[in-house]
Amino acid sequence: MIEIVDLVKEYKTTKALRGIDLVVNSGELFAYLGPNGAGKTTTIRILTGLTRITVGRARLNGHDVAKESLAAKQQYGLVPQHINLDSDLTVFENLLVHGCLHHMPRRSAKQRIDHLLSYIDLSEKRDTLVKHLSGGMKRRVLIARALMHAPKILFLDEPSVGLDANIRRRIWALIKKIQQEGVTIFLTTHYIEEAEFLADRVAFLDQGRIVALDTPQNLMAGIGSWAMDQLVADNMHTLYFHSQEDAKHYAAGLKNGFAIRRVNLEDAFLSLTGKKVI
Ligand code: ATP
Repeated sequence: MIEIVDLVKEYKTTKALRGIDLVVNSGELFAYLGPNGAGKTTTIRILTGLTRITVGRARLNGHDVAKESLAAKQQYGLVPQHINLDSDLTVFENLLVHGCLHHMPRRSAKQRIDHLLSYIDLSEKRDTLVKHLSGGMKRRVLIARALMHAPKILFLDEPSVGLDANIRRRIWALIKKIQQEGVTIFLTTHYIEEAEFLADRVAFLDQGRIVALDTPQNLMAGIGSWAMDQLVADNMHTLYFHSQEDAKHYAAGLKNGFAIRRVNLEDAFLSLTGKKVI
């Protein structure tokens, strides 16, 4: 559904992408994970036709994003990192404008809006000005707007950034529901637990390169099942073990200042890149 071949992006002074190869399958929920400046947004900007490719190519549902940009654009909906709804329009008006931009007949646009508002559980806010919505509600409206023209692919650029834990989980449930309808989802995120919870597969991006790509389970299994965090001279050191017994056996010789826990995706990222995703 999404195919990226040897993709390079150079800005004047920065090499943002240094040769990305990636295939995202139809119906897959794919997470693209990396620290600030790794190249996540640049990849989405290229796939959505907002910035030009320096070298390489990319296709959406078989359509080349550079050579068949119109057809490629019809394949996706985009939920951008920053909320760019028109705050002086109502929820309904925001969605209708998007429908008009996609040349939807007014009647089917209205039907689609009613369906989507019920889908995101915001029917009662239909005629509310966007500026009177909470942050979490605005994010849900952004998602509904991206789904107006029933795209096959949904790009989510940091969909839950700045939301509290409860609201974030509500957004996750909505994303899962969208995937279950057969939409292919490409998600960028800083929140490792978001990728761990949602994604079928994860790519770790670092300085414009994919340094690992696999299911969250395989990425974690690559380093062990159990971790022991140990405080050494104000620094946290983490050791990995294949079993809880091994971890406990090692810890038996320690006095205090340690904790044994299950390995998570952040451990896999840290051990591959030496960096935290912040
Ligand atoms: P973040 O998590 O902070 O959003 P990111 O992984 O999305 O980061 P990008 O925004 O893709 O990273 O940036 C990748 C690199 O390209 C960075 O070094 C950034 O400074 C640089 N960059 C991005 N956009 C431009 C631009 N328009 N002009 C010049 N350099 C840019």
